[in-house]
Amino acid sequence: MCGMTTISTLGSHCALQVLKGAKDEGFDTLLVCEKKRERLYRRFSFIDDLVLVDSFKEILEPKTRSRLKERQAVIIPHGTLISQMDSSQIESLDVPIFGNKWILRWESDRNMKEKLMVESSLHIPRSLASPSDIVGLVIAKRHGAAGGKGYFLATSKSDYEEKRDKLIVQGIIKGDADLYLQEYAFGVSAYLQYFYSPLDDKLEFFGVDRRYESDIDGLGRIPSKEQIGIDKIPSFNVVGNSPLVLRESLLDEVYSMGERFVEAARRLVSPGMNGPFCLEGVYDENAKFTTFEFSSRIVAGTNLYVEGSPYSAFLYNEPMSMGRRIAREIKNAEKEGRLQQVVT
Ligand code: AMP
Repeated sequence: MCGMTTISTLGSHCALQVLKGAKDEGFDTLLVCEKKRERLYRRFSFIDDLVLVDSFKEILEPKTRSRLKERQAVIIPHGTLISQMDSSQIESLDVPIFGNKWILRWESDRNMKEKLMVESSLHIPRSLASPSDIVGLVIAKRHGAAGGKGYFLATSKSDYEEKRDKLIVQGIIKGDADLYLQEYAFGVSAYLQYFYSPLDDKLEFFGVDRRYESDIDGLGRIPSKEQIGIDKIPSFNVVGNSPLVLRESLLDEVYSMGERFVEAARRLVSPGMNGPFCLEGVYDENAKFTTFEFSSRIVAGTNLYVEGSPYSAFLYNEPMSMGRRIAREIKNAEKEGRLQQVVT
C-alpha cells in the first residue's frame, strides 16, 4: 500500500485504466460507481471498493464527500466528471483533484478555450461570430464535453439554419446559443496525448490516437448516389479510438506544441497544466497541425495503451499507461512531501 492515499475516479470513461494503473503502483483504489454499472465494475479485482450512487452528481453531497475524505482519496478527473458537472461544481469539491481543477473551466468554455490555444501559439481554425459569416465549410459544435453528439457541417447560413432547426425539433439543442461555429479543418485527425510533471518540470509525449465517430466515420461505406438521397444530419459521436503512430519527423513539433501549451497554461491558469492533457486536431497535406480542441485531463484515447504505447516505451523500461503514470506522479510527490503540488 502506498502512503495512505486512495486513488479514486468515477465509473466510466477511463476508470479501468486509471485504477489498474493505481493498483500497479501499489495504491488502494476506490470507484464512485452508478448502481446500474455495479455488475460491470465488480468484475475487476484491482478495484478495492465501490461507493455506490444513483447519479455521479452525488459526489457533491456531504455524505459522499466525507466517505472520500475518510479514505484520503485523490480524484482523477476525466471526461465524465466534466460532462456531468458544471465548472463551479467541480471547483467547489473539497476532495483533492489530481492536476489543476481550475483549468477544466478553460476546457468547457469555448471562449476561454480559444484564448488558451491562441496564447499557446497553436495554429487554430477561425471561429465565426455569427452564421451570417459562413463561407466555405464550417462545423457547428456544442459547448462543453458533448463528445461530438449534435455537431454538424454547414456550407451557408441557410444550410446552417435548416440543420439547426432539425436539432431543435429533436430536442438536442435549444438554439444558436448552444452552438459554436468553427472553420472546418481539412486533413487527417490526430489526438496527441501528453503528460506534464511539475515535480521535475518535464513534458512526456505519451501516445496518439484517432477517434471513431458515428455516424460520420461510417459514411464512406455508403456510395455517393445513396448518400444524396439520405435526409440525415451525420453526427460526430465518439464510440471508440484506434491507435496511430506519427512520422518521426513530426515529433519535434509535437513536443514544441505541448511545451507551448504548458507555458501558456502556467501564465493563464495557476498552477498550470499539470498531469495529462491532449491536443486534438488534424494534419494537412503539408503535415502542418491545426488544433481544434484540447482536453486538460486524461482522454479516453489513452485506453488503447494499457500496456504502454510506442512512445511511452521510449521513456520507460516497463509498461506505462497514462493511468499508471498518474499514480506514479502521486507516489513520487508523496515520497518528496510534495503532494500539494500535484493536486488542487
Ligand atoms: P470535439 O468535440 O471538438 O473534439 O469535436 C468532435 C469531432 O468533431 C472531432 O473529433 C472531429 O472529428 C470533428 N471536429 C471538431 N472540430 C473540427 C474542425 N474545426 N475541423 C474538422 N473537424 C472537426
